[in-house]
Amino acid sequence: MTGLSIEVQEKRFDALAAPVIGPLSLSLAEGEFVCLIGPSGSGKSTLLSMIAGLDRQWQGRVSLAGDAPPGFLFQEPRLMPWLTVADNIELVCAEPSRPRTLAMLDRVGLSDAAGRFPSELSGGMQRRVAVARAFINRPPVLLLDEPFVSLDAPAANQLRRLLESLWLEYKPTVLFVTHDLAEAIAMGDRLVFLGRDPAHIIKQLRVDLPRPRELTGTAVTACLQALLGEHPDLLSGRL
Ligand code: ADP
Ligand code: MG
Repeated sequence: MTGLSIEVQEKRFDALAAPVIGPLSLSLAEGEFVCLIGPSGSGKSTLLSMIAGLDRQWQGRVSLAGDAPPGFLFQEPRLMPWLTVADNIELVCAEPSRPRTLAMLDRVGLSDAAGRFPSELSGGMQRRVAVARAFINRPPVLLLDEPFVSLDAPAANQLRRLLESLWLEYKPTVLFVTHDLAEAIAMGDRLVFLGRDPAHIIKQLRVDLPRPRELTGTAVTACLQALLGEHPDLLSGRL
């Protein structure tokens, strides 16, 4: 079964400007965890907005399993400062249920934080709230846009573990945007590399390493070195 598929003929921000994306075609199996890697400005965030339906100004088509809105996790936690943690999570729920919210907060390690405000939480705790919000409706598709940049290494690692365990529990189809190759190898079933101007797929790679994978462990490091040895310019969007 397909969890997510997108076919872009073309995406331009301005009819007179050069296309930013396409032609490009990408399909994810249901429950698959795919990492999308590309240089800054290559169109990764734009592609996620198109998949999420936030950007409809483009030619092509997209289909999402379950026909439910995708969960979204951004670079910044994007919490409403005037709402409590529980209210922030329930903001995305059509039928909020406090017991369900509290259970999800417990699941992400924030059982005491329901009544607190975002400003009273550390950066890592705010991300946990964002993770809880992304999973609260059990979306069949989850889109993540560099969710762990600007965190210190231990906090980022804890959040990767949390994300992986929630993914294993709920098995959404995941498209995870990153420009960190080690992170992609540690998280993904498959890696998709983008080139730019316009965005196009330059390489795909299945990662068959057993989970859980240690970000700085020998298996991930060996895979990373082999890949960059073969394609030194891969992260610049060139094969
Ligand atoms: P990435 O997420 O890979 O860093 P983006 O998707 O943010 O890249 O941007 C891709 C390209 O599209 C960049 O050249 C960027 O300047 C351009 N772009 C992004 N958003 C807009 C916009 N709203 N209007 C015009 N150009 C945009
Ligand atoms: Mg981006």
